[in-house]
Amino acid sequence: MVSTERSFIEVDPQSHFPIHNLPYGVFRPLSGGDPRIGVAIGSYVLDLAALDKAGHFHATAVAGKDIFSQPSLNAFMALGRTAWRKVRAQVQQLLRADEPALRDDAVLRAAALHPIHDVELLLPAQIGDYTDFYASKYHASNVGTMFRGKENALMPNWTHLPVGYHGRASSVVVSGTDVRRPLGQMKPADAQAPLFGPSRQLDFELELGWLIGPGNELGQSVPIEQAEEQIFGLVLVNDWSARDIQAWEYQPLGPFLAKNFATSISPWVVPLEALEPFRVAGPEQEPAPLPYLQQAGAGAFDIQLQVGLTGEGIETSQTISASNFKYLYWSMAQQIAHHTVGGCNLRPGDLLASGTISGPTKDSLGCMLELTWRGTEPLQLHNGEQRIWLEDGDEVSITGWCQGEGYRVGFGEVTGRVLPAHDNPA
Ligand code: CA
Repeated sequence: MVSTERSFIEVDPQSHFPIHNLPYGVFRPLSGGDPRIGVAIGSYVLDLAALDKAGHFHATAVAGKDIFSQPSLNAFMALGRTAWRKVRAQVQQLLRADEPALRDDAVLRAAALHPIHDVELLLPAQIGDYTDFYASKYHASNVGTMFRGKENALMPNWTHLPVGYHGRASSVVVSGTDVRRPLGQMKPADAQAPLFGPSRQLDFELELGWLIGPGNELGQSVPIEQAEEQIFGLVLVNDWSARDIQAWEYQPLGPFLAKNFATSISPWVVPLEALEPFRVAGPEQEPAPLPYLQQAGAGAFDIQLQVGLTGEGIETSQTISASNFKYLYWSMAQQIAHHTVGGCNLRPGDLLASGTISGPTKDSLGCMLELTWRGTEPLQLHNGEQRIWLEDGDEVSITGWCQGEGYRVGFGEVTGRVLPAHDNPA
């Protein structure tokens, strides 16, 4: 993972956005103008619409289509992997230290390079459908143990198929959007009848998600060996969850209001190609999955993940979990193959998320439910306070990166602050 590639733009070795990464996002300059598509490089955003207007994509599939002047990545995602690779190679070339085309064009540089703090980052895609999986065996085992006991921790189907459910796309929000504590129905163990009110057990879920590229026709499946061609890129995901609402409503059809009030994603979409140097083998799968879920070669990625908490009285962020994407039992390719095997069509911009990414140790658990073992082992904060669930004013910040030698390919962060519930109408 040593790399000699260098940009004419200085990039700190700790930066998430070196020339090896070049994640895509949708931004609007704070000074005004329409939303458009850019890539992050160091502490700048490179405006791809401006490069396109200057003719720098004339030899690619995006030429003449105004694809980068749009307020979402959907049209670009629909073009497929060959087009993404050509555009990425061209952007990488233009940013190289030894390439004069952009480096020495002061007019174009002024038009195309925005300091990252001078832009507003928007939701990167128009998300038509959102599916959330449950792909960490550690997470599924822990939650199963808490809800059903150690003997019944994993359902009999769990090691045979990637369990998931269809989530809600309308409430997917970009990092930095405040999240309102939901109202709902819950039934505490000692209550005779269900109560209605603000959730008392608000939680985060540490996840990664991937945005779908071209998609597949209704009635056609995506074979596992072609599944990764559907992955445009990855984002950090916080799948906010109300555990008390969930515990009461989840049987028999799974979570509903406990999960549909908000899901936060990071604004930068890291191309799958940028993650290739960090591909690793996932856990051994026993029993062997059915043939349609058997993936040749390594299907996991070594992505370090951290969750930080700040809030009223917690001025400096406290790391409350450190996990890794490679802990997932089911790979992204397996999840895509399973999702489509019955003929369900995926479309450009669809979001598939991994489910909570918990690791094997107590400090690598991906949600408060597990970190505090359903409230029985409170988290000790540096300021002397304890936390069982999220409180109003808390801000959860998830970050993730791959560590190369002397550089990082990172995701930036996804943050969200908890607002108090609306007045209870009941
Ligand atoms: Ca989830």
